[in-house]
Amino acid sequence: MVNLYSIDALKENLEPLRNKGLKIGFVPTMGALHDGHIALVKAAKEECDVVIVSIFVNPTQFNNTEDLKLYPRQEDKDLELLTQNDCDFVYLPTAEEIYPPDYEEVKIDLDTIENTMEGEHRPGHFNGVVNVVSRLFKIVQPTKAYFGRKDFQQVAVVKEMNRQLKLPVEIVTVETKRDPSGLAMSSRNLRLSEQDLDKAVVISQVLNKGKSWANSYSPAVTRQKMIEYFEQTSLKLEYLQIVHPDTLNDLNQYWVSGATACIAAYCGDVRLIDNMELITKEEN
Ligand code: AMP
Repeated sequence: MVNLYSIDALKENLEPLRNKGLKIGFVPTMGALHDGHIALVKAAKEECDVVIVSIFVNPTQFNNTEDLKLYPRQEDKDLELLTQNDCDFVYLPTAEEIYPPDYEEVKIDLDTIENTMEGEHRPGHFNGVVNVVSRLFKIVQPTKAYFGRKDFQQVAVVKEMNRQLKLPVEIVTVETKRDPSGLAMSSRNLRLSEQDLDKAVVISQVLNKGKSWANSYSPAVTRQKMIEYFEQTSLKLEYLQIVHPDTLNDLNQYWVSGATACIAAYCGDVRLIDNMELITKEEN
C-alpha cells in the first residue's frame, strides 16, 4: 500500500492509472477503522481495479467541538488494517490542503434531505459533508465512491449533491456491518465501556421490533410503539423517524417500498445512530 500525503503525490500515482482506463474505487473515511469500513474496501476491490481510502477527520462536519476533540484517532492501526486488506493507496491530507486559503465553499439546497434528522440536530453537519466529499471527489477523481448505509441520510445527501453538481462519480451503498450483538459498528463504539456496549444493543433491537410491527401497523403507530419501547431503556432518544427512502419525508399513514426507520440516541455521552429498512425495497 502506498501512503499519499499530498495532492501532488496523489496525482503522480493515480494519473497514469486513470490514463490506462483503470477503474478507481474510493472510500472516504475519518479513520478509527473497523470492519464496517473494511466492507467498503472489499466492495470497492470487487468492482474496481484500484482502491484508495482517505483518512481525514473533517472539522467542518462537527457542530460540537468536544465531539471533534474526542473523535478517536489511531493512524498506525488504520494503516495496518488497510494493508492487511489489500488497499492500494491511502490518502492522508492535511486540513490546509483540503481547505486552502482560496477555497470556495460549495453551497447547494438539499431541502428536506438535509433539514430533517441529523441535519436538524447537527446544524451545519451536511454542509460540512457536502464540502469535504465534493472536494475529495475533485482531488481523487474516482470512478466509483463507496458509502455505508449505516449513515443513511449521508448517502441521500451525497447522491443528491452528486446529481446537482453533475459529478462523474458513481455512488455505491454498502450494507451496515454489525457486531454479533446486532450493534452497528462505529468508530464511536471505541468510546463505550463494556457495560455501555451491552446497553447500546437496544438500538438494533428496537429497529428489529419496528420491522415486525410494520407488518401489522401503520408507520405512525409503528413509530409510536418503537418510541415507547425505547423509552423503557437507559439510553436517551434524540430522534426516531420512519422516512421515505429517497425524499426522507416522514411516513404516517401509508408504507412505501424501502421505508426506513432512523434513530439517534445517547449512550452516556456517546451519540450513536443506526437505521433499518422496514419495508423491503422492490428493485425495478
Ligand atoms: P466514517 O469514518 O464514520 O466517516 O465512515 C466512513 C464510511 O464508512 C462512511 O461511508 C460510513 O457510512 C461507513 N461506515 C461506517 N460504519 C459502518 C458500518 N458499520 N457498516 C458499513 N459502513 C460503515
